[in-house]
Amino acid sequence: MAALNHELESIVEERTAELQRSNAELLRSLSAAQELNDLKSRFITLTSHEFRTPLTTILGSTELLKHYGENWTQDKRERYLDRIHDTVDHMTRLLNDVLTVGQAEAGQLTFSPSLVNPLDLFESAIEQVLTKTYRDRRIQLSHDLHARDVYLDQTLVSQILSNLLSNALKYSAADSAIEVYLKTEENQILFRVRDHGIGIPEADQADLFTSFHRAKNAANIQGTGLGLSIVKNAVNLHGGQVTVESQEGSGSTFTVLLPLT
Ligand code: ADP
Repeated sequence: MAALNHELESIVEERTAELQRSNAELLRSLSAAQELNDLKSRFITLTSHEFRTPLTTILGSTELLKHYGENWTQDKRERYLDRIHDTVDHMTRLLNDVLTVGQAEAGQLTFSPSLVNPLDLFESAIEQVLTKTYRDRRIQLSHDLHARDVYLDQTLVSQILSNLLSNALKYSAADSAIEVYLKTEENQILFRVRDHGIGIPEADQADLFTSFHRAKNAANIQGTGLGLSIVKNAVNLHGGQVTVESQEGSGSTFTVLLPLT
């Protein structure tokens, strides 16, 4: 009888432990589904909100061009066409960011390194970010290179650079300098993007790389809070690290360290 009792007890214990395990698993998948749902609704809010203003700009500009364009000077017509062009560019970037974050969340982004020349990559990223809106800005590039070509995922590094550089431009004054430093060592590549802009309040620094997080002092500057989460994901896929040092009102320095395969 005692043996039977003992056996029953251990069966009950085993079943209880099993139940607890499946409960925990269920809770985990429920919270993952909840997170995904939250993310989806934030995407919907973001896109409907962020697309309304540029669409109004495009519509307004085309209407004006249609009705008054013939009487305008060539210069004024071009300004309006440039505005439409820039707004479409902005919307395309926004859509690409949403797509990239969605792919990252679904684990669909892969790491495909190839042999690249880091200096070429950095120079072309700087050139690309200094388009119309920022054509009068300057970005100083200095480097300390020990290898000509290195194995990196070119698409991911371009994403990192374009987000860090456009943030540095966006969050600093038109006449302030931006410095980029690039260094390769035998096993790693390090780069820094430094600006002297509005800086980041200490309380916001820990959450900056989370999707949609924006610092308090950035409320009046256009943005979605997606760029740094794209940076973080691209750095993680390389098995690297990204850190930020910043002081509100004095500027920010983002440092990226990627191992070289
Ligand atoms: P956003 O589209 O808002 O710029 P990001 O994900 O790129 O989104 O950045 C998240 C937040 O981090 C920004 O909203 C801003 O508050 C802060 N931030 C990022 N880079 C800088 C910078 N160089 N200077 C000051 N604040 C920055």
